[in-house]
Amino acid sequence: MALLEGKTGIVFGVANKRSIAWAIAQALSREGMRLAFTYQGERLKANVEALSSTIPGSLLLQCDVTNDAEVDAVYAEVDREFGRLDALLHSVAFAPKNDLENDFVNTSRDGFKLAHDISAYSLVGLTRAAMPLFDKSGGGSILALTYYGAEKVVEGYNLMGVAKASLEASVRYLAANLGPKNIRVNAISAGPVNTLAARGIKGFTDMLKHHAERAPLRRNVELDEIGSAGLFLLSNMSSAITGEIMFVDCGYNVVGL
Ligand code: NAP
Repeated sequence: MALLEGKTGIVFGVANKRSIAWAIAQALSREGMRLAFTYQGERLKANVEALSSTIPGSLLLQCDVTNDAEVDAVYAEVDREFGRLDALLHSVAFAPKNDLENDFVNTSRDGFKLAHDISAYSLVGLTRAAMPLFDKSGGGSILALTYYGAEKVVEGYNLMGVAKASLEASVRYLAANLGPKNIRVNAISAGPVNTLAARGIKGFTDMLKHHAERAPLRRNVELDEIGSAGLFLLSNMSSAITGEIMFVDCGYNVVGL
């Protein structure tokens, strides 16, 4: 029997076939998990629809994570169709281009609020709204995506680094809060991957080159490797792990000089 037969999950953050969320969703689906996919707005609907239609029995729902009514509607539909939830993948982030490119000291108040709302608070809001469905499964596993720029200064990452620090702290506080309900909360800190979101970061191509040169494995991480790590953290294979930020970066983070 497949590892995740009879289990269900929801995936926030597929934009296209290069998305980290899509790599993890494929690994989950291969192991038998039934999935609901969300897309932010009409602009991406066709992309996500083309991908989700290749996954048998999946749902496709609209959800801007800053919109509480849309979040509630998504979970109501998941409840109707699945009647339970075992896994939640949060693979969503945004910061205004100016606030990524400007000197950090010039970060705008509105940009700061928006980046934190979409990239960090949404983990808390999406988790809270999912709790009645996790309850029906007797618990669940939640996974977010983060980056090294939360811990150390990475040129060009700026406001997103601060939002990721907030996301990582939220992972730990949610894990402590929800552990007694058998809900686990973890994050993968992924090495750089060439995706739509990554292209918003100035000097991203140089970042890829630098990581590949410095990482102990002397290469960059592949999407399917993040997929496998996501499968591990969202399945019972990781049943004693919660509140953890797991690096999937070819070892880059352990190197000092
Ligand atoms: P991606 O394919 O562009 O995925 C980012 C997703 O976030 C998109 O689907 C995007 O939709 C969605 N999003 C943004 N604002 C949203 C909102 N208000 N409501 C709902 N969805 C929204 O890029 P990715 O690299 O796979 O990013 C996934 C996660 O991995 C992010 O948390 C990112 O920070 C993290 N990460 C990426 C890397 C990397 O090098 N690529 C490394 C470490 C961590 P729209 O396109 O419509 O905005």
